[in-house]
Amino acid sequence: MTARILVMPGDGVGPEICREAVRVLDTLATDHGLDIMLEEALVGGAAIDATGDPLPESSLEAARAADAVLFGAIGGPAWDDQPRDKRPESGLLRLRAELDLFANLRPAILYPQLAHVSALKRDIVAGLDIMIVRELTGGIYFGKPSGMHKNANGKREAFNTMRYDEGEISRIGRAAFDIARARGGRLCSVDKANVLDVSQLWRDVMNELGREYEDIELTHMYVDNAAMQLVRAPKQFDTVVTSNLFGDVLSDAAAMLTGSIGMLPSASMDANGKGLYEPVHGSAPDIAGQDVANPLAVILSVAMMLRYTLKRPDLAKKVENAVGYALDRGLRTRDIMDDEKQIASTQEMGGAIVDML
Ligand code: ATP
Ligand code: MG
Repeated sequence: MTARILVMPGDGVGPEICREAVRVLDTLATDHGLDIMLEEALVGGAAIDATGDPLPESSLEAARAADAVLFGAIGGPAWDDQPRDKRPESGLLRLRAELDLFANLRPAILYPQLAHVSALKRDIVAGLDIMIVRELTGGIYFGKPSGMHKNANGKREAFNTMRYDEGEISRIGRAAFDIARARGGRLCSVDKANVLDVSQLWRDVMNELGREYEDIELTHMYVDNAAMQLVRAPKQFDTVVTSNLFGDVLSDAAAMLTGSIGMLPSASMDANGKGLYEPVHGSAPDIAGQDVANPLAVILSVAMMLRYTLKRPDLAKKVENAVGYALDRGLRTRDIMDDEKQIASTQEMGGAIVDML
């Protein structure tokens, strides 16, 4: 059946990098039998300028109807002084909530050719390949009650609630166990069970699931230790599963281990395999429109789409290999440049991937 893919380019470098990702998808359709139909919709600042709404109804409807969304980036200085619900970013938050995208997948992969851009020593990070699975729709970011008020002593007081029920924990747990099974077979669940009740429930549910996934090696780690271990010896991790707040912090830390924000893809999935795929980086307004942005993060997001929604791991591998070959050939966008390599524009890098395919 033809898969419907909605492209939402957004703002800043979003449109120029998405153009390269679309060339990759078109090539897979014409030369490798990928059965897809591409559509495009407005989101973010571009949608505000056109309609006054960062997520117009027509865009939301198109996203609901699609099997997968390829998302560029949103935001920029032009919209920074808007009220919170009229900012470009609120369009993405609403989209995630409306589509019930509860599982956020953030790989931290360091291509061996790029070990020089990491902040860590080469032997600690070369060949790094971690997958962080973060719960995205629950936990302290959404728990009620929350608020800010003056307490009985006349002091300002604010509070949030870290709340999960066992259903929310087991659905992210299952997603993570399945991913671990398709990868190295090891899953590390990160919590703070020595202090937080909600973490004790998290750990109990993960252990219960572990009995169903006997082939997966399940371990637990406290989040403070996990942060330390990520920097000390990151290659000990294969797949990591954690809550919304801890995952937010750990996935950004893991991203910086690779040092190259222009290389990192992500996916946000619902319970039925539908996903929103986007680069980890933002709209990069400082380099927008200059044809210098690295398109590999969004192209690698296409690879994730092929693997997790379109169920074509063979084509996912092809795209990832094409990225490896382009790096082998010495092509570098500015953000991953080192001496004696060949500087490539956004379009040249995209073109190289298409040629490899
Ligand atoms: P957001 O709040 O949307 O995450 P941000 O300002 O925190 O945005 P980015 O937009 O990701 O972060 O930009 C951070 C830095 O990384 C900028 O200097 C930007 O130019 C650079 N950068 C981001 N994406 C790319 C890319 N694809 N290629 C090259 N450089 C990039
Ligand atoms: Mg940011």
